[in-house]
Amino acid sequence: ASSFPSGGLRATFEARGYTAWDPTSYAFIKDDTLCIPTAFCSYTGEILDKKTPLLRSMEAISKEACRVLALFGKKVSRVTTTVGPEQEYFLIDKEDYKKRPDLILTGRTLLGARSPKGQELEDHYFGSIRPRVKAFMADLDEELWKLGVNAKTEHNEVAPCQHEMAPVFATANIATDHNQLTMEMMKKVADRHGLVCLLHEKPFEGVNGSGKHNNWSISTDRGENLLDPGSTPMENAQFLLFLTAVIKAVDEYQDLLRISVASAGNDHRLGANEAPPAIVSMYVGDELAAVIQSLVEGTDYKAAGHKSMDIGVTSLPHIPQDNSDRNRTSPFAFTGNKFEFRMPGSSFNIACTNVMLNTAVADELMQFADELEKADNFEAALSTLIRRELAAHRRILFNGNGYSEEWPLEAARRGLLNLRSTPEALIHYTDEKNVALFARHGVYTRTEIQSRQDINMEEYAKIIHIEALTLIDMLGKLIVPACAAYSKQLAEGVAAKAGIGVDAPAEAAQVRLLTEKTAELIERTERLKAVVAAEPEALNARAMYEHEAVIPAMEAARQVADELEGRVGKEYWPMPSYADLLFYV
Ligand code: ADP
Ligand code: MG
Repeated sequence: ASSFPSGGLRATFEARGYTAWDPTSYAFIKDDTLCIPTAFCSYTGEILDKKTPLLRSMEAISKEACRVLALFGKKVSRVTTTVGPEQEYFLIDKEDYKKRPDLILTGRTLLGARSPKGQELEDHYFGSIRPRVKAFMADLDEELWKLGVNAKTEHNEVAPCQHEMAPVFATANIATDHNQLTMEMMKKVADRHGLVCLLHEKPFEGVNGSGKHNNWSISTDRGENLLDPGSTPMENAQFLLFLTAVIKAVDEYQDLLRISVASAGNDHRLGANEAPPAIVSMYVGDELAAVIQSLVEGTDYKAAGHKSMDIGVTSLPHIPQDNSDRNRTSPFAFTGNKFEFRMPGSSFNIACTNVMLNTAVADELMQFADELEKADNFEAALSTLIRRELAAHRRILFNGNGYSEEWPLEAARRGLLNLRSTPEALIHYTDEKNVALFARHGVYTRTEIQSRQDINMEEYAKIIHIEALTLIDMLGKLIVPACAAYSKQLAEGVAAKAGIGVDAPAEAAQVRLLTEKTAELIERTERLKAVVAAEPEALNARAMYEHEAVIPAMEAARQVADELEGRVGKEYWPMPSYADLLFYV
């Protein structure tokens, strides 16, 4: 356990760790080796893995949900959270990949002028799957099925070269293990097809990045989906209570959900016009929103084909299955019988997101059960509770366009968090309310949370640091020499032409411009070096510095390099362009 990232839980000389088989996730054979899903903790008992807290959070929500169900007269011994993660990825040609040090070292392009054509025609998204990609997908399905992963849907995604795989959902624990296997197999199978699978959240500027949609629900051991609106008033009351718990949980723990998707890679997505914004909000669809409004305001609920409704449980209306349209811009959307959390990045382990969700919802259910178990009149107490909590947490509901410019302003008025960058989000990990939440449900101790905050903060700082060094290296060794060689060749042409009495003023001006731009690029590279050299020691300060100083310095250098790419002859440019990468698979 010594070299495993432990956030200071283990010193290098303290090597002992313990493993425990997890019988709730299937064993499988990979590379002729029997693999057994396993929990991992240190000699001192502190957990080092992501599996143990996930299992603990599943226990917590099961316990509290069973208490709530008992109040509705249901004897249920176990409740499980189910997850279906949709996995997005890019496929590019292996030969191109090998020529890009940025892709090799950082997983994304640090340079690259926009391709003249991007995703604007949507001809990739709606086009047929190319034979080479189809062969990859068929092979991937086959390999995943061998491992017990129920790969199901394979399709093209928005950006050129971008695709998605969605499995059949499983328990949160199995889904997490299977998603890890899926990412590994995507890389392996791509290699067999002369392709490289990019799982980075933002491999290319100017086209969509990749995410992972965490579809999440809660089911009983009898197969009842607790987020499925029922067909009787009592079922609807139960549904509304669970819905209220989720709404309250997402509102009170916006920060934890945001933290669970925070990384250097995902910072390029969240808030950009393709993924949900960094503000956590919920979409429940027009009909449920109307139900909630009538509950909170005590007004009649009328919908076409439905009875009107007052607050009493017995008169709650039937909420039809497909009561919601889809809202692609919402980070947390109700999709009929489950929630889809759209913020996780494509390379993430989904354990963390599900730990946050399960624990937060477990906590709300615990509070509800505490209150309702004491009530003399259950139905009256239930109505009061639902109405009170919906009124208190309605601000998290937003059915509008999350990409609009007004939304961040409106969100600020509502007092919602807008944690724009990873360090700004991570700092809230150890907020007292979060430490208390995890302690209440035995999911993490204070030390365990602190260690995770430190690990994530350090990873963030290291990633940006590596990206900056890679960029400096590429600019110095590849880009500046290419620009110099090209302008030298142009200059020699101008001189040769002058020797035979031909004036070439436009070409001479081009040489001057290239020389000036190259000088500017050298200057910005030097500036970036100086910024990197001044990184502070202290961890949190360093992470913030990477965000505030190093990233802008990288962007400034890239901007000039990308401009130069458009002016330097193709055979002089030392790497495949965006068009080469995105349109030749
Ligand atoms: P989208 O319309 O967002 O592209 P998909 O149909 O591609 O959605 O994926 C939906 C995912 O949700 C699938 O992985 C599916 O198995 C999963 N899913 C369906 N029902 C549940 C459920 N009750 N709990 C968790 N996941 C579910
Ligand atoms: Mg989806």
